[in-house]
Amino acid sequence: MTQAIKDKVIVITGASSGLGEATARLLSAQGAIVVLGARRVERLQALADELTGSGSKALAVTTDVTHCDQVKKLVDAAVQTYGRIDVIINNAGLMPQSPLDRLKVDEWNRTIDVNIKGVLYGIAAVLPYMQQQKAGHIINVSSVAGHKVGPSFAVYAATKHAIRALSEGLRQEVKPYNIRTTVISPGAVATELPDSVTDPDTAEKVRKAYEIAIPADSFARAVVYAMSQPQDVDVNEILFRPTRQEL
Ligand code: NDP
Repeated sequence: MTQAIKDKVIVITGASSGLGEATARLLSAQGAIVVLGARRVERLQALADELTGSGSKALAVTTDVTHCDQVKKLVDAAVQTYGRIDVIINNAGLMPQSPLDRLKVDEWNRTIDVNIKGVLYGIAAVLPYMQQQKAGHIINVSSVAGHKVGPSFAVYAATKHAIRALSEGLRQEVKPYNIRTTVISPGAVATELPDSVTDPDTAEKVRKAYEIAIPADSFARAVVYAMSQPQDVDVNEILFRPTRQEL
């Protein structure tokens, strides 16, 4: 068990599937206390029950990250139950790709609300606690699409570029408070993310692109790496892809 992870109180948004779920499992196996947020409460509760059943501490809190008050409740629940918050992983996200001329304005809005505002609400919820503690770690999830732009994923890429910009500003501001910041940018990882594509042509292209996707524990290990560094080492960016991914 890694000392840097054991007994740490870790809030994970989007923990009901994919990267969030895999990370909750790995961190929990290494002794962390995980506080899980997402909308699908049955899945969240089943995961929390499984983790507590194997002797870990875990809490499920129904959370829609597009509501600032719900994200605050999630973080407050962690602090009220376990006494502090050590890490937040702002992971909840959507990827409903489509060419701009399909005018899927509602999807653009939802993507911005979840992928950008949801992360900002996570930051807002933890900052007062972490500043007071003079300790903490904020991990934001960007993407290869936070580094590259291409047809059909302009809006998604814009949200993921925004996460890198926000995280760099945050990094500079929280230095006096001993808070670490990490952006993790995965390539294609096998999760439910492609299911959020509603445009049929794009869905087919995404399905093909994800044939080379790697398992979700690749992301979880990146989180463990960032967390496991000595306190005076701040891993600010991790970009990883399937070995076979070209983009
Ligand atoms: P999944 O679709 O498997 O998981 C997405 C998670 O986000 C789910 O737990 C979902 O939970 C949650 N979520 C979606 N909307 C909301 C909301 N409004 N409020 C709270 N939670 C929400 O995909 P991934 O695990 O792949 O995605 C996780 C992150 O990783 C995303 O930010 C994504 O952009 C990023 N990423 C993923 C890559 C990949 O290839 N898989 C590559 C690069 C980045 P629920 O529906 O229960 O609310």
